[in-house]
Amino acid sequence: MKKIVILGSTGSIGTNALEIIRNKKEKFKVLALSGHSNYKLLIKQIIEFSPKYVSIGTEKGYGEIKKQFPNLKVFIGREGLKKLGQLVETDIILVSVIGAIGIEATVEAIKLEKRIALANKETMVAGGSYINKLLKQYPNAEIIPVDSEHSAIFQSLLSGKKKDVKNIIITASGGTFRGKTREELKNIKVSEALKHPNWSMGRKITIDSSTLVNKGLEVIEAHELFGVDYENIKVMVHPESIVHSMVEFNDGAIIGQFGVTDMKLPIQLAFTYPDREESPALKSLDLLKVKSLTFEEPNRKVFKGLDLAYRAGKIGKSMPTVLNAANEIAVELFLNEKIKFLEIYDIIEEAMAEHKIEEIDDLEDILKIDIATREWVYKKFGR
Ligand code: NDP
Ligand code: MG
Repeated sequence: MKKIVILGSTGSIGTNALEIIRNKKEKFKVLALSGHSNYKLLIKQIIEFSPKYVSIGTEKGYGEIKKQFPNLKVFIGREGLKKLGQLVETDIILVSVIGAIGIEATVEAIKLEKRIALANKETMVAGGSYINKLLKQYPNAEIIPVDSEHSAIFQSLLSGKKKDVKNIIITASGGTFRGKTREELKNIKVSEALKHPNWSMGRKITIDSSTLVNKGLEVIEAHELFGVDYENIKVMVHPESIVHSMVEFNDGAIIGQFGVTDMKLPIQLAFTYPDREESPALKSLDLLKVKSLTFEEPNRKVFKGLDLAYRAGKIGKSMPTVLNAANEIAVELFLNEKIKFLEIYDIIEEAMAEHKIEEIDDLEDILKIDIATREWVYKKFGR
């Protein structure tokens, strides 16, 4: 029985993970769950999965859970997430909260040399170089990527040696606004940006997909996870979202992973790897129904998110932390209708231009830059 901790169990990835566990009760047991504002859903999950520990984001949620489950160990807020990262009984921790808030728990789990199923790409963007340093110190810790592209790359890399990798090819759906001009994007409404053509995901990542910032974050995530130079990480728009990403080897062979657009496969694989198991929760792909697969260049002029991320990634040091934090707040401001769609790019660009690059030595450095960037954006663009 593998004991699983899910950070962000009330979210899109979290609920998919519970669906995987629901279908494999003989293999997986929930040890801990966490939610932020949605305590009502967390309560339902507690009833169904009987975790030993939970963490919740709000005082109100804390009160309600304590009232209903007086004997349950309940933590709260940022400290609560960290506590769930420190559980020695854990076998696998799925980090699927949204944003760089996931970093501390990830760091704790690495120190305990756990398996980390990592959906939370912002952690790898904001803190990748530090996380990699830590992974060298704790060699038995392992990160298995859950982000579909990185799971596909992870799987593709198994068919060759690292030294023989020529390029990583990350595929992108192109987002909701593929083919649109800058002019057409000026007055985009929040509701329009929240309609993703292929994937059903949380609000923040759906906006990130529409700006291509998501793909930019994924480029940095790939660089940090797989140690491949930015020059050798390519992005291709693949509107069908069937090929989840590919690896090109030196001999010209391109290996990719195909599958339905459903996060349950990469989640389950991160739990069962190196085994691959059947599950009623997983669907197979009928290529005869798909018929054709197409690939095209992304439009980098309109969707500046991609190049901003390449720029931040190549500069390295504290710059990816700034890119990530500025984007998190920009998306929040857009979702709250405080700024227009294209201003998301302006905020990231200005925050990066304003930032004086610093070395990242430890977690405190990351948190300091993360907070300073958030404050800077709020001060300049309002709350
Ligand atoms: P959701 O918005 O659906 O869920 C986010 C989860 O994090 C919820 O459980 C939410 O709690 C919790 N949360 C929100 N704010 C905080 C906070 N301040 N402190 C602690 N917990 C918080 O996001 P997704 O599931 O879509 O995405 C999660 C992560 O996975 C992201 O990093 C995303 O980039 C990545 N990812 C997601 C994919 C997807 O298909 N959804 C695909 C690939 C990667 P509550 O809802 O209770 O407030
Ligand atoms: Mg992805």
